[in-house]
Amino acid sequence: MIKRSFFSLAAPKLTYPILTTPSTKPVDIPLPERAQLILDHPLNGPLGIGVGDMVKTGQRCGDREDNYFISPVTGTVAAISATVGYMGKNLTAVSFKVDGKDRPDEEFRNSESSSELERVTRFLGYLPGQPDFSFLTGIRDNLKTVFVSGMDKDLLVSTNSLIAKTEFAELKKGMAIVRKIFEKKRIIYLLPEGVRPEGEIEGVEIKQMPAVYPQFFPKIVMKKILAIEVPTGIRCDEMGAGFLSAEAVSNLGKAFSSGSIPLDKVITVIKKDGSTAFARVRLGTPARHIMDVLGIKIAKGDRLISGGPLAGITLSSVDAPVCGDTDALMIQDAAAAPPISAAHCVNCGECVRVCPAHVPVNMLIRLLENKLYDEAARSFDMLSCIECGLCGYVCPAAIPIFHYVMLGKFEYERARSLEVQNA
Ligand code: SF4
Ligand code: SF4
Repeated sequence: MIKRSFFSLAAPKLTYPILTTPSTKPVDIPLPERAQLILDHPLNGPLGIGVGDMVKTGQRCGDREDNYFISPVTGTVAAISATVGYMGKNLTAVSFKVDGKDRPDEEFRNSESSSELERVTRFLGYLPGQPDFSFLTGIRDNLKTVFVSGMDKDLLVSTNSLIAKTEFAELKKGMAIVRKIFEKKRIIYLLPEGVRPEGEIEGVEIKQMPAVYPQFFPKIVMKKILAIEVPTGIRCDEMGAGFLSAEAVSNLGKAFSSGSIPLDKVITVIKKDGSTAFARVRLGTPARHIMDVLGIKIAKGDRLISGGPLAGITLSSVDAPVCGDTDALMIQDAAAAPPISAAHCVNCGECVRVCPAHVPVNMLIRLLENKLYDEAARSFDMLSCIECGLCGYVCPAAIPIFHYVMLGKFEYERARSLEVQNA
């Protein structure tokens, strides 16, 4: 495996949008007639709920501590089925026929006598903003720092910037909960240079980073703020740092203030002309419903992308639901969408120059095109990729390098876990 010094940011200097005056209030999208939750595990056993069962909004469904979901709506379970996600990952889809009116479930409210940690672990793992609370359990004792990021993962996406700008009170409350859960840990609120929160937040340090893509990616933050280089193939939490989005922390604050589980997701909608709007939608709402309400037409051949222009993922259906981590939906006009490229690498080196992790992308892509994932990891540093998408963005041959790398990492990890199982 190649060992390299970490990160330098090469051209092009792509800057994140900074919200200075968020005059655009999110459009409230009415409840859809049908909603769907995608659970991040295969359908390989009972879910503790069945087709035809009635559910209430915020109801905890599931009969195991570590395997549950929160119903986003009031209605009836219409279907439970196996489905396939990005990279062929096996997932579970739960569909609901939605009643017109929410009837809130009270179990979370009635759990007030439990500790913050117990309530978060039992009820709040699926908040909008997709909090990764896995570090609450497994490695909690080794955790030294929790970052709360007020910036977004891709260009043109401003969901977390909007939350940071408009939900200070909720964020402050959420950070107080984070401090209680992670007693004696360092809590750092990340904001772009030039942006300050409305006031002080007790026990929380404010750190600013240049608003240049991809400076807010966790491994770069670790290097810049903590002077810790995260080795290839190692996660940030294994090195003592957890990351939460501003939206997740704000929703944590709302949950503890209101006694009900927040289920509305703020998304940035990136239109065909590159202009953006915000929408507030219930988790599980199909993308088609949002576009219909906003009056955005999706024509044959247009692409619907979850995320932004650099690292977004094309959705296979306009009925794909909004999930906890859907920060943006982008519509790409059929005429503007680059065709699926059959071109070969011309070895121009642009991808190598732009890669912040110094991956020799021009060599890596040759192995990935030939499905040589193990060698790609061992010889060409595939696992150092931080998944920023810059390589694909600059490639003159329009090779979907980012998706090749994502597939390569997925297949490599799958092969490793099969080896462990069969050992
Ligand atoms: S996505 Fe491409 S440019 Fe970004 S870190 Fe990975 S290989 Fe490098
Ligand atoms: S940018 Fe594209 S064409 Fe240029 S070296 Fe990289 S993969 Fe090859």
